[in-house]
Amino acid sequence: MMQTTAVVIGAGHAGLAMSRRLTERSIDHIVLERGEVANSWRTQRWPTLRLLTPNWQTRLPGHGYAGDQPDGYMPLAEVVATLTRYARLIGAPVRSATTVHTVRSVPGGYEIRTDGDVLHARAVVLATGACNLPAIPGTADTVPPPVTTLTPLTYRDPGQLPDGGVLVVGASATGVQLASEIHRSGRPVTLAVGEHVRLPRSYRHRDIFWWLEATGLLAERYDQIDDLTRARHLPSPQLTGTPEAITTDLNTLTALGIRIVGRLGRITDGVAQFSGALANTCALADLKMNRFLNRADEWATASGLDDELPPPHRFAPTRVDPRTPLELDLTSGEVTTVLWATGFRPDQSWLDIPVRDRNGHIRHDGGVVTGAPGLYVLGLPVLRTRASTYIHGAAADTGALAHHLHSFLGRRRRP
Ligand SMILES: Cc1cc2nc3c(=O)[nH]c(=O)nc-3n(C[C@H](O)[C@H](O)[C@H](O)COP(=O)(O)OP(=O)(O)OC[C@H]3O[C@@H](n4cnc5c(N)ncnc54)[C@H](O)[C@@H]3O)c2cc1C
Repeated sequence: MMQTTAVVIGAGHAGLAMSRRLTERSIDHIVLERGEVANSWRTQRWPTLRLLTPNWQTRLPGHGYAGDQPDGYMPLAEVVATLTRYARLIGAPVRSATTVHTVRSVPGGYEIRTDGDVLHARAVVLATGACNLPAIPGTADTVPPPVTTLTPLTYRDPGQLPDGGVLVVGASATGVQLASEIHRSGRPVTLAVGEHVRLPRSYRHRDIFWWLEATGLLAERYDQIDDLTRARHLPSPQLTGTPEAITTDLNTLTALGIRIVGRLGRITDGVAQFSGALANTCALADLKMNRFLNRADEWATASGLDDELPPPHRFAPTRVDPRTPLELDLTSGEVTTVLWATGFRPDQSWLDIPVRDRNGHIRHDGGVVTGAPGLYVLGLPVLRTRASTYIHGAAADTGALAHHLHSFLGRRRRP
């Protein structure tokens, strides 16, 4: 059995950032990765994906964006290259092609069983990602058989879809991106829209992430957020990263010719039923967007930036056609593919330690797993701040957790 002080599971950006923090503190560790560095980006994302966060924001401990397009949005291949370079730069001790099958508590720490061997560590950091599996509603089982079903993890490009119409379920970042890509391939697209977060790509000539960061919204701490459970389950914003930096809200999609319908409820006898509350859902999203823009304007005024920036303005409310259909017969042949863009969930099925709540989520206090000293989790939405959901949030999260882990090891050393 191999002994090491700490094991980090997962060599995505979060695991790598943690490795860098442990190295800074001279904590002996190893990073176990079932594929290669940036495996999720290499194997679980569609090729045309670009980050929706601007390049200047893709920063990790000891590493900032150094290219010539700080305001651009990184294509997938560049994300992979960036993380691969980062792993090399920090000398991360990654053991690739090593899948962790079980982690359990043993006296003095944790036993980690991989497909190759067994390791013992005093501390373990779970950095296996929040988006390993698609989150699909139960009604997916009732899609009539001739219709092809896909998830963002299996979708690659429109060419893989059969001819015919496509129902994209879910209008958050993934749903709006894929709906517009599939529409451009010439297929008729219907987009089922539930609760969503509407944001413009830019406002007053600044990227929306500039505003989210400048106003302090992304820095809001988990222990200061009123409804943390809700914050952790909020859909991703309706944003895409494109070379033209276009806004991809529902008005844009409608103008392209994509049919917008309400939230998918049930599928009964092959007929998909949509909520009639689409107009209300959209009005609420508009209201929340305007609330944030008000906050942005107040911040700009308080910061004395009003002379530097173009004046405040508001965006057109979301237009909802009163004749929006409430049903779609999936047996008619009109729709040949259903794409579930209904979110993602983590896969921690290999964790054999009783640290989950009733809903199967790991119980943790800002990444410090509850009831399992020396066990940490990273990369979950709003783990420590709202920024934790994004790549750049790992810098502060890993700083705090490495500090905690270091103190934990110190306490354990004392008699
Ligand atoms: C479609 C999509 C788009 C996104 N776009 C953005 C964006 O634009 N900007 C942004 O900031 N964030 C974005 N995110 C969010 C987030 O930054 C990514 O999900 C990111 O990949 C998470 O990094 P991570 O290191 O936490 O996990 P991952 O990148 O998923 O890394 C986890 C690693 O753990 C490995 N692993 C898993 N299980 C095991 C096991 N049992 N044994 C060994 N290894 C294992 C995996 O192979 C993987 O390499 C996006 C997420 C998705 C899903």
